[in-house]
Amino acid sequence: MSISQSLLQLKTELPEQVTLVAVSKTKPAEDVMEAYSAGQRIFGENKVQEMVQKWEELPKDIKWHMIGHVQTNKVKYMAPFVSLIHGVDSLKLLKEINKQAAKNNRVIPCLLQMHIAEESTKFGLNGDELDALIASEEFIDLKNIRIEGLMGMATFTSDQNQVKKEFNILKSVFDRLKNIALDNFCPKILSMGMSGDYKLAIEEGSTMVRIGSSIFGSRNYNK
Ligand SMILES: *Cc1c(COP(=O)(O)O)cnc(C)c1O
Repeated sequence: MSISQSLLQLKTELPEQVTLVAVSKTKPAEDVMEAYSAGQRIFGENKVQEMVQKWEELPKDIKWHMIGHVQTNKVKYMAPFVSLIHGVDSLKLLKEINKQAAKNNRVIPCLLQMHIAEESTKFGLNGDELDALIASEEFIDLKNIRIEGLMGMATFTSDQNQVKKEFNILKSVFDRLKNIALDNFCPKILSMGMSGDYKLAIEEGSTMVRIGSSIFGSRNYNK
């Protein structure tokens, strides 16, 4: 199937309230343009440099989401244009995003990444760290960021019960936090689900899925 066919097929499967982030990491600009021509406007990248290059080259009505782990020193390059940063997992990173957003006279929407998988390699905060971050005095002072929800990645396993359990944990934290409303904290996005597990993620309450290989085909792993 071509990129546009895969995209349109996928869209018929997604409920209306679920936002699709087309993950274009490692894929060339032509591939992004094919999805763009089929109507897709939100794309996800996991490397700042690659996202900046594509942003420069491609139509300006594309919304770029940073879905990967972000190094503090790279924030400044995407601050002028990034539309959502999914993987925020420390106050230090959030403060840097806030600083760079202020320099650009804007508010940058972010998601806090929660660690739900068994693998220790996946980044993210645990429940206590999440609560502590939001409750900290420093957090309240960050006027140029807005936390719009949570993101998580389940364990890479064929065990559906395990994946379901992990998504369920994230959903219950999300539901609990939804009752909090601060100027810079208004959770409404639950970013969970990738090519292999998005159906389960949607069943468990996801409002945003990040899908790469099911649209663009498998990636080149030497990249
Ligand atoms: C690469 C990536 C995805 C997309 O993965 P696919 O399995 O290709 O759909 C989703 N989320 C994150 C954080 C990623 O790094």
